Amino acid sequence: MPWYKTLHWQILSGLIAGLIFGIIATLTGLQQFTVDFIEPFGTIFIRMLQLVAIPLVIASLIVGITNLNDLTKLSRMGGKTIGIYMVTTVFAITIGLTVVNIFEPGKVLPEETRDGLFASYQENIEGQEEAATELLDRSPLQFIVDIVPANFFEAASDNTNMLQIVFVALIIGIGLMRIPEDKSKILVDFFDSLNDVIIKIVEMIMKIAPFGVFALIASVIVDLGGEDLRRTAELLQALLMYGLVVVAGLILHVLIVYTTLFKMFSNMSLLNFLKGIRPAQLLGFSTSSSLATLPLTMERVEKKLGVHEEVASFVLPVGATINMDGTSLYQAVAAVFIAQAVGIDLTVSQQLIIVITATLASIGTAGVPGAGIIMLVIVLQAVEVPVEGIALILGVDRILDMIRTAVNITGDAAVSVAVASTEGRLGEGHFDD
Ligand code: ASP
Repeated sequence: MPWYKTLHWQILSGLIAGLIFGIIATLTGLQQFTVDFIEPFGTIFIRMLQLVAIPLVIASLIVGITNLNDLTKLSRMGGKTIGIYMVTTVFAITIGLTVVNIFEPGKVLPEETRDGLFASYQENIEGQEEAATELLDRSPLQFIVDIVPANFFEAASDNTNMLQIVFVALIIGIGLMRIPEDKSKILVDFFDSLNDVIIKIVEMIMKIAPFGVFALIASVIVDLGGEDLRRTAELLQALLMYGLVVVAGLILHVLIVYTTLFKMFSNMSLLNFLKGIRPAQLLGFSTSSSLATLPLTMERVEKKLGVHEEVASFVLPVGATINMDGTSLYQAVAAVFIAQAVGIDLTVSQQLIIVITATLASIGTAGVPGAGIIMLVIVLQAVEVPVEGIALILGVDRILDMIRTAVNITGDAAVSVAVASTEGRLGEGHFDD
């Protein structure tokens, strides 16, 4: 296939064209035009992806479980998946803490800039603080309660309830496994066919992906080019350092942790792996949402990396909800950066608290744009760093959100390869496109 026909090149072209258009629109006063006539196409594209995500998870998970036909295998896979997810997250936070302590980006910041920004952003933070306090006020076991929906349609009506959907699909799958085959066949065939239809729809949506990405990036640029960017320009040096530290940490995480993971569990090279999932990373970057990217991640992981559907359909939706390596690393860096900026020296035990709270916060972070910064409030409160500090990093959060989302998706895909390999469910990869 010629290079320009491959999905990642097409998405990348959309991304670059969106970037250029966004800059030109900002410079020539076409912001409103972009908001009115370009942004809606980005919204439609994201909605299409969200539209297929829940039916896809339900159909493919039920098909996967009924193919598995073995409950012990299912619980073994579940244990492995969650175990590896937790370990990679703790490594991500440790890498984040290491780089931020070495480079100390928060100490670059001039005091007056800091004070001015605190005041101007106070308003923006209030909402985030409220959302986080609400979460903290809940009972300790609430997160388990939240996995079980009282009403299936209510669960399916909200795209962020992926764990509830996984739960429903699991029990339907288990139920189907336990009734005689002549009774279960009709439903299994139904979900099998639904699964095929949705995969086809995903392929169709991907045809318009470059245009969707163009519209999304153009509107992000127009947004960034507004008031916020000008204000935060004063902060540029510290923020640039902070951003670079986050990005360096993320790159190190991918290079070290995922390479080690493959060495331990499969013989896939990091390079081939990255080639296989590149379009999903680019889409994650453009949408800032692991959940919206899920259909494409599933397709790439199954078709290109050779992970069997039975593994991918379980590991990836769970990952898109609870496994956020990029977000946890970013939360660790951001918490220490803010502490440094306001002159607080965090002790080793406080940094350990960051490891625990950032792990929990990243589990609780929904795979939607900007969720990570809301959960950051919990990490900050746990180590008594003023939450107002979020004001400092708000201006560059969107771009970091894009990058950390790409890493979140990479993490989910890497773990699915590891789990598939240990289950003997990793086939041939196709790394050509
Ligand atoms: N946007 C991220 C994701 O969807 C979550 C975050 O805000 O960090 O994976």
